[in-house]
Amino acid sequence: MEPIIVLHAGAGTVPDNLRESARVGILDAIKVAWEILVNGGSAIDAVERAVEEMENYPQFNAGTGSVLTEKGTIEMDALIMDGKTRGIGGVIGVSTVKNPVKLSREIMDQSAHVIFTKEGAEQFAIENNIEIIDEELLITERSKNRLEKFLKQEGGYGSDINSSDPERREKYGTVGAVAIDVNGNFAAATSTGGVLGKKVGRVGDTPIPGSGNYADDMMAFSATGVGEYIIRAVLGMEVKSQLMIDNDPKTASKRALEVMMNNIGGAAGLILVTRDGWAAEKTTRDLIYAARTTEMTDFYDFSMDYSQ
Ligand code: ASP
Repeated sequence: MEPIIVLHAGAGTVPDNLRESARVGILDAIKVAWEILVNGGSAIDAVERAVEEMENYPQFNAGTGSVLTEKGTIEMDALIMDGKTRGIGGVIGVSTVKNPVKLSREIMDQSAHVIFTKEGAEQFAIENNIEIIDEELLITERSKNRLEKFLKQEGGYGSDINSSDPERREKYGTVGAVAIDVNGNFAAATSTGGVLGKKVGRVGDTPIPGSGNYADDMMAFSATGVGEYIIRAVLGMEVKSQLMIDNDPKTASKRALEVMMNNIGGAAGLILVTRDGWAAEKTTRDLIYAARTTEMTDFYDFSMDYSQ
């Protein structure tokens, strides 16, 4: 089987001055993950490493650099799914874990449970030697400035993504990875700080299996965008339904996003790998993504075809 990996680093609007550094961050991550896949490594290892790299990249909204809640705190969500074993591990609302994706993997591999929240997750991390970090060290100056600006804006939660003001629409940086390995196994991993200025305790789509992240023996999927819409659409399952109708990954992805937009609204981007190929689709202006197959070199696109 030819391996494929696709990464995203969020959907929304990427300010001009941050585009180049976003490109560097996602390409560094895909190189690391691709090395694993071309050397016969597993899809699950590749997606975990890719997401770990992107969590450590402070410009992205995951791990270090996560967006802040309305109270100025960090609450990160992550999920990993192994299509081969149907293993799932996830965390919700953690604030002191350096790499939520590593903790998710540990939960998947070592726990009888599937998803842990807050203190329980952090306790599991301590017991299993997963790095704990001071919350302050995950908070960047940029995150603080963005929250300050957000709290002064009108419109409230979620209004930034569809705003006509480009400054206000700045929203991107949730990270995700989907892959198929040489043995034909799929895996997906997604990690986020959530949505800027969210209420404390709010949970997005990222840690919900079948909504923001999904992998089985036919596909691997990761979503990004306003989680409330993605959850209502159960977007990963919508993609799977669409694949049953037309197994072209691009067509299925487009149709799933259309179903979400027509019935629920919102805005999202997604990445998908199937045995027939891969897709990266969006309803937002930008989707930061990169893909790598044996036939192509690194590919990267902010997809500027959406009118401003
Ligand atoms: N989907 C994430 C959430 O709602 C945010 C994002 O993708 O930017 O938590």
